[in-house]
Amino acid sequence: MDSRQLHYLETMGIQVWQQRQPTSTGKKPRVETGEEIIPLAPSAEVAPEWEELAVQVAGCMACSLHCGRTQTVFGVGDQAAKWLIVGEAPGAEEDRQGEPFVGRAGQLLNAMLEAVGLQRGQVYIANILKCRPPNNRDPLPEEVAHCEPYLRRQVALLRPRIILAVGRVAGQNLLKTSLPLGRLRGSVHQYPETAIPLVVTYHPAYLLRAPREKRRAWQDLQLAHKVYREF
Ligand code: URA
Repeated sequence: MDSRQLHYLETMGIQVWQQRQPTSTGKKPRVETGEEIIPLAPSAEVAPEWEELAVQVAGCMACSLHCGRTQTVFGVGDQAAKWLIVGEAPGAEEDRQGEPFVGRAGQLLNAMLEAVGLQRGQVYIANILKCRPPNNRDPLPEEVAHCEPYLRRQVALLRPRIILAVGRVAGQNLLKTSLPLGRLRGSVHQYPETAIPLVVTYHPAYLLRAPREKRRAWQDLQLAHKVYREF
């Protein structure tokens, strides 16, 4: 683990224990994380398909959420990214700025990604919903149904090597299940009708309220990173 990753683990609030001395067997101290980072493909030019989709999303009036939005929140990141991060729906700040995960939860998400050697700009970040639900309530099934084809198209264009679902709402809707988050974490799923592996972890907004769970989130990230390297 390099000093930058240590720094981000600290930012996540995770204490890292390392052996100070080599063991008497002469083995090197074992450090609990993803070592070499597989280089990501350089950004591709913005493909017309992405532009078309973004225009379609920007004008979407398929459900009533369009009435209350400042703007749609399409997604952000490298369109050649190998990692797709999926959250729930835009909050107030995201609705204002038109970009997912820009508030405090977004800062923690960035730190979580950096802990496994990923810069925000190297991944692609999107949400289950492209519009902000009023008072940040959970997305309704009909809203998800209307919005889902957009995310599915984003997945088809991106062809990520791993999907990281952050939070119960993302996990349940991506996997079409009502299992609780505790049952979704810790295993490798597949994005339906594809072979793309999908790992579920806590939502960063929840981790801000429950910092003791950051250690488990770190385990999830390590699992996702392992799958990414091996898939
Ligand atoms: N929470 C989410 O799930 N998505 C965002 O974009 C912001 C907060």
